[in-house]
Amino acid sequence: MQNICVLGATGSVGAAALSIIAEHRHHYCARILVANRDVERMEQLCRQHRPQRAVLADKTQATVLAQRLAGENIEVVGGAEAVLAAAADASCATVVGAIAGARGVAPAFAAAAAGKRLLLANKEALIVAGGLLLEAIDAGGGCLLPLDSEHCALFELLQADAEYQKLWLTASGGSVRALPLAELAQVTPQQALAHPNWSMGKKITIDSATMMNKALEIMEAAVLFRTTGERIGVVLHPQSTCHALVEYADGALIANWSQPDMRLPLARMLAWPQRLPAVVPPLPWQALSQASFTPPEAARYPCLPLAYSVLKLGGSAPAALSAANEVAVDAFLAGAIAFTDIARVNCNMVDYLHGQQTMASSIADIWQADEMARRFAREQIACWQ
Ligand code: MG
Repeated sequence: MQNICVLGATGSVGAAALSIIAEHRHHYCARILVANRDVERMEQLCRQHRPQRAVLADKTQATVLAQRLAGENIEVVGGAEAVLAAAADASCATVVGAIAGARGVAPAFAAAAAGKRLLLANKEALIVAGGLLLEAIDAGGGCLLPLDSEHCALFELLQADAEYQKLWLTASGGSVRALPLAELAQVTPQQALAHPNWSMGKKITIDSATMMNKALEIMEAAVLFRTTGERIGVVLHPQSTCHALVEYADGALIANWSQPDMRLPLARMLAWPQRLPAVVPPLPWQALSQASFTPPEAARYPCLPLAYSVLKLGGSAPAALSAANEVAVDAFLAGAIAFTDIARVNCNMVDYLHGQQTMASSIADIWQADEMARRFAREQIACWQ
């Protein structure tokens, strides 16, 4: 029996993890559930999955949850420290790291230091402090298994220990991929949130529409597979049935296909190196002949090349871009800026970074860059009001 701690239990990746765990009760047990502040959802999950402990980062909401679960024999705790303690708890050898955004970074480090088998969906932990996280994993004696669908696909493809030339990430193009370029500035949050293929959280769905998500995934792949931006390409593939391709030195091109469903990467990494039965229906071969692959349009996706710029700058530059983007996405969702302003904030951020020192030798340097970038982005946005 594998005891699992699910960080970000109330989100879409958390839901996929819990559904796989529930279907394989004889193998897996959701022992600790962690979320930010969603009491309603957490109460439902606790009644359904009967964890030993439920943690909410928000202490006030944790008190509410404790009242609702009185007499249920589930320990309820609250606060940021309780989240870190859950990630490192000795009762769980496996941790699913599915807290979105910068808030997921510290818990990922706590799990890494405690030697966990860390299934990581949180991109930011790898993007903002990837080198340091890999060091923490090595020092802790655990391992890192990627949950991001493209990276999970690459992880699987790269098991044959052969020299590769290039890693290809596929991109769906997001919710506004077919809109005329001239109409992009008028895109509303509601339009941008309607992703054609994947059901995900708000932040990542907007990132998918701007293709900033793919830029973040280039940075993520560079860390995970210890390579440079030049060896990571992006191809537009609107069907989302092929997740990644690896071009080998001998000219072979190997692709990884499946239905676009987060349950598969989850099941794959939970059971790694085994496979669980019947996680998703197999992809009909007709889907292969319907698949198309084209280069992403540069004018539509100005965020994409930013990944290569910040990887070249190195140090805290990826963290700064990621932070500026978080501020821009929040502002767009709040109706404060236009859809195309997200890319404008991010491009200005990278221009600014070119004149700055981006060396980072500790997590403190990273957080400083994060703070600087958020301030920079907020000032930009305030100027445009
Ligand atoms: Mg992905």
